[in-house]
Amino acid sequence: MSPLLENLLSLLGPEGLIKSDLNEINIKGRPTDGWGAQECLSPAIIRPKTTKQLSDVMKLCHKAGQKVVTHGGCTNMTRGCASTKDELVISLERMTNIESLDIANRTMTVQAGVPLQTVQETADKNHLFFALDLGARGTATIGGNIATNAGGNQVIRYGMAREQVLGLEVVLADGRILSSMNHMLKNNAGYDLKHLFIGSEGTLGIVTRAVLRLRPQMPSRTTALAVTDQFSRMSQLLNHMEQALGGKLSAFETLWQSYYRIACKGENIGQPPLPDNHPFYILIEASGANAESDSEQFLQALESAMSQGLITDAVLAESLQQQQTMWAVRDNIPALFAYQPLILFDISLPISEMEGYLEEMQNNIAAIDEQLFVATLGHLGDGNLHVAVELGNIEENGIEARKRSIERAVYTPLTKRQGSISGEHGIGLEKKPYLSICRSTTEIEVMKQLKQLFDPKDILNSGKVI
Ligand SMILES: Cc1cc2nc3c(=O)[nH]c(=O)nc-3n(C[C@H](O)[C@H](O)[C@H](O)COP(=O)(O)OP(=O)(O)OC[C@H]3O[C@@H](n4cnc5c(N)ncnc54)[C@H](O)[C@@H]3O)c2cc1C
Repeated sequence: MSPLLENLLSLLGPEGLIKSDLNEINIKGRPTDGWGAQECLSPAIIRPKTTKQLSDVMKLCHKAGQKVVTHGGCTNMTRGCASTKDELVISLERMTNIESLDIANRTMTVQAGVPLQTVQETADKNHLFFALDLGARGTATIGGNIATNAGGNQVIRYGMAREQVLGLEVVLADGRILSSMNHMLKNNAGYDLKHLFIGSEGTLGIVTRAVLRLRPQMPSRTTALAVTDQFSRMSQLLNHMEQALGGKLSAFETLWQSYYRIACKGENIGQPPLPDNHPFYILIEASGANAESDSEQFLQALESAMSQGLITDAVLAESLQQQQTMWAVRDNIPALFAYQPLILFDISLPISEMEGYLEEMQNNIAAIDEQLFVATLGHLGDGNLHVAVELGNIEENGIEARKRSIERAVYTPLTKRQGSISGEHGIGLEKKPYLSICRSTTEIEVMKQLKQLFDPKDILNSGKVI
């Protein structure tokens, strides 16, 4: 064992360091992304339990120039947790304490390794609500959500992860602890440093604790699945529902037929909520304080959408189970994995540009191979689309070239539409070659200067993002 690993072992004890030959645990088999496809190449997993321990770990790594890769729940889609055999993994899997819940001020203080779902359930038990939700909720951690500035299903009403964080504690590359554990909504005393780390994908510091903002629980939740036959109707419907529901709209998720057909095949779906012969499906949800009047208002809004021709059919969830089925269809992204190898894109662009973009992008893909399967879904209200494109039947040695041509087909039409190559999943290694499509030279230069300032030895998630 190297002297550094020996020091780390004596610092953390056997529970704090996993090494294949030491613990007889197969590190390679640990998932490093949401696909579960990439092997973990790191020789050891470092598992601190406290911020102080992580700080000591980083002091040793910094001194030795040892590169590290941080692991939360490893549900990312961008190879953000990929490591080489020369990098150590820092896993937050033992930092899972919910430290306190302040009902009066509506905050929860947690360690960064807590799974998102645990935060949601803890808030719920205390009649409060944590306004971040995404399909990987059971495994994704709060630290990972913050590091990626995760989006998800309720951004339209509550914003992204950034909006749910009041305070943050970070261990810097040299082991210093930067504690900004603010509890207030307002604090304009100088720079708000936490925002530098939110969305920085572990390249500027390791998030160890956070003060999360909670909201009042909304006892009523009304959900419907609607269908329409034209793209333009979906954006009109969005405006209509926002207006008619007076701020209660909490989700507006759009599924193209290509995705709906596959997603409905999930084991937990049973009878699909609507037949699969419509071009566009929209999952609409509103939440509020009064079940009776909220559902009345929702129904009226849907009926008026129907009479204006914005939708052609709709089904209202009449039980929790029906609600869950609608969400299970939306969240059944793993059903796409059957089409591997495929690329799941996460682009964003102004809604007014989407239809033209999709047409151009699909033509580009067809020019590569007409048979390639493309499935689309999105958080339309946030201008965010997920597009899955299969690579097709292709020889092993042609895969990388095929990937590049599909990436170009998807990303190039974004430039003239002021779109972004990442709506919510981040950049990681996967999208790094394309960053300049949506960030200017000066923006990238300043990002590099920040990296140099916080991590001059380039030991945190080296080579990722920029
Ligand atoms: C089925 C499914 C659905 C998904 N839906 C959504 C969605 O709707 N919206 C969305 O935004 N994402 C979605 N994702 C992607 C993923 O769940 C999010 O990016 C999530 O925030 C990652 O959290 P994690 O704990 O798994 O992070 P990881 O995958 O472990 O890490 C992600 C990145 O953050 C870094 N990191 C992790 N923890 C820390 C930390 N404590 N400090 C500093 N850096 C850290 C890692 O090094 C890596 O670069 C989905 C994924 C799946 C599999």
